[in-house]
Amino acid sequence: MNMITALIDGEIVSTGQAPIPIVDPATDLLIAELPEADDATVDRAVAAARRSFDEGVWRTMPVDKRQAVLRRCADLIDAAADSLADIECGNTGLPLAQIRGRSIPRAADNFRFFADYIGQSTGELYEQNPDYLTLVRREAIGVAALISPWNSPLALGSMKIASTIAFGNSCVLKPSEQAPLAISQLVALLGEAGLPDGVVNLINGRGATTGDRLIRNPDVDVVTFTGGTPTGRVIMRTAGELLKPATVELGGKSANIVFDDADFEQAVDGALLGIFTNNGQQCLAGSRILVQRSIADRFIEAFVNRARRIRIGDPRDPATEIGPLVSARHMQHVLSFAPQPWDEGVSLLTGGRRAAGFDKGCYVEPTLVRAESNDARVCQEEIFGPFAALVVFDTDEEAYRIANASRFGLVSYVWSQSLARIMEAQERIAAGIVWCNTPMMRELRAPFGGWKESGVGADGGRACENFYTRQKTVTIPRRPLTLRKIGA
Ligand code: NAD
Repeated sequence: MNMITALIDGEIVSTGQAPIPIVDPATDLLIAELPEADDATVDRAVAAARRSFDEGVWRTMPVDKRQAVLRRCADLIDAAADSLADIECGNTGLPLAQIRGRSIPRAADNFRFFADYIGQSTGELYEQNPDYLTLVRREAIGVAALISPWNSPLALGSMKIASTIAFGNSCVLKPSEQAPLAISQLVALLGEAGLPDGVVNLINGRGATTGDRLIRNPDVDVVTFTGGTPTGRVIMRTAGELLKPATVELGGKSANIVFDDADFEQAVDGALLGIFTNNGQQCLAGSRILVQRSIADRFIEAFVNRARRIRIGDPRDPATEIGPLVSARHMQHVLSFAPQPWDEGVSLLTGGRRAAGFDKGCYVEPTLVRAESNDARVCQEEIFGPFAALVVFDTDEEAYRIANASRFGLVSYVWSQSLARIMEAQERIAAGIVWCNTPMMRELRAPFGGWKESGVGADGGRACENFYTRQKTVTIPRRPLTLRKIGA
């Protein structure tokens, strides 16, 4: 595998500064040392994007040709699925089966989705004024800085690239320094799809150095970031100071409300998937499970029994359901939330420790804790691991109050067989996405964006079109005008 410090104008750069150690979290082995891009390399990547945008080959390409290139990007990802999945697995510890089954198809679909989308885009036309036609066009916005996280590098990095370039922009992606390997290979592949040089560039490095340098570069027009809320604040501050539009997709502590009339089996299945998919490391995890009192004991018993049977192990084993967490440091972060016997108001129902039977690797047992109050730390902070907190409620009003008592508002889940209850819940919950009787149904056409401290802006067809293009209002007289003559 090539070490890709940067990809600029289609050329790989493998030299840089302060190498980043990359460790396989399943084996604790150092698998790579990736030199970080230095300032000059970051600036060169932006200059390449700027030049390609200003030359305009990509943004002025007829839409059907641009669609064909985007579809070839998707085909190239599909064709490289095995090797990309293998690299992603070794770098992140995510189960290979989930990478093959979810992340890679999603990465390819991101390109197909935006290829289809741009074939149907429309502008606006105002013709109320009898003398004029006013049309509103959208033009590509320029050079985008894309900053992505480690928890699903292929799916999230590719979403940023596809949604940016589809509208004619050029970009520089900076993946997370914790999991840069597979997404860098994916970007390298795109060169074969027929993208003009400089449209997609990549730099690897740490956030405070390369990420910061990237967004501050004056040739960067817009910034899009997915990652933690504290970093999101820093990025918004920098972008605000420089008056660059920015979207930030941040953390979550999503409520998963199980009402007493839920389809019980489905609700248990959904709650398990909602918290344990992707090793629990997902922004949209249903990490606060709120259960109505009359079914709480039964729910806890069923959930705990199943959680204890989840197959933890080698992420390359097709039977594995939870692999190792991304790093030893992250594992310590997750385990620091495990309640101690002397903690009041929080009790451990299952898990809460490193999984037995592994001498190496960052394996954590699927964990459920019960909190008497939603004010508990386990209910308020994003843990970002296979770790759910459960709170029992009595009335629907109480469920909404608890669900909304959070600084986050990314997604929420509701389980009930009553249409009236579902309708009420989807109105009452303060979150950007409400999944009713289903876990994690991502509809790319619709906006995906958090409320409150879960983000500003959204992904999705029209949401991305709005962000990655700018409007231009053009007014044309319908017939020759008789203009008022001044100075005549
Ligand atoms: P992070 O905030 O630590 O890092 C994200 C990216 O930002 C990395 O590429 C990092 O290098 C970069 N970065 C850090 N400091 C920077 C700076 N000063 N300037 C520019 N770039 C900087 O997040 P993470 O740990 O990689 O990801 C996990 C977090 O991402 C979780 O909070 C999770 O909820 C969130 N997330 C949100 C969504 C969503 O759609 N809302 C999706 C996935 C993950």
